[in-house]
Amino acid sequence: MGGRGGSSGLPSSVTQAFSRAGVRMDDMEKLDARAVEQSLKGVHDVLRDMGIPLSAVNMICGKETSEELMAVNGCGDLIFSKSVYSNIEKAKEDTKNKNGYFASGGLYSVGAHEAGHIAVDTIMNRIMRNNSVLERAKARKNHKISKQILREAGKQYGSNPEISKYGEKSASEKVAEAVSDVYTNKSKANPYSKVIVNILKKKLNGE
Ligand SMILES: [Zn+2]
Repeated sequence: MGGRGGSSGLPSSVTQAFSRAGVRMDDMEKLDARAVEQSLKGVHDVLRDMGIPLSAVNMICGKETSEELMAVNGCGDLIFSKSVYSNIEKAKEDTKNKNGYFASGGLYSVGAHEAGHIAVDTIMNRIMRNNSVLERAKARKNHKISKQILREAGKQYGSNPEISKYGEKSASEKVAEAVSDVYTNKSKANPYSKVIVNILKKKLNGE
């Protein structure tokens, strides 16, 4: 009998890592698995580096939505737009950073951006664990934690410069753009984005 030797089976993927962590997957059949994998890698890398368990994501699912490429809702569901993610070429095209509208571009950066929202929600759920669901929903809607982070970042950096056009939409989008910038562009990221990410990490450590 010949030995089987070597490694066999499926290569371990980030999608499988979420699945092993107990994250449910729903309505994913229409999505291109390679495109999903690349964006989930961005989510995964940020969560891991920030010490957030993958199970902070409640569910990963596809949805008919024309508004966003990806989204995180108040329940911690990570949503992929079916119209964008059903085709990897379209997904790559739609996530390109056109005219600096985003802090970074590509499938990975979109996942990193969403992980920024998850990080802020994780802090909020900890701080407000004794508050009602309604109070937490209100705080999320009012960008309470993101505003705190930006106030602190402004003090440390001396100002609150623009990171990207998209980041100017709200405090939450600005923090998410900073995360996307730092994890995608690494050393080339805006120094102000680095300040925001450091504050985020400190808050996650309970400082
Ligand atoms: Zn966002």
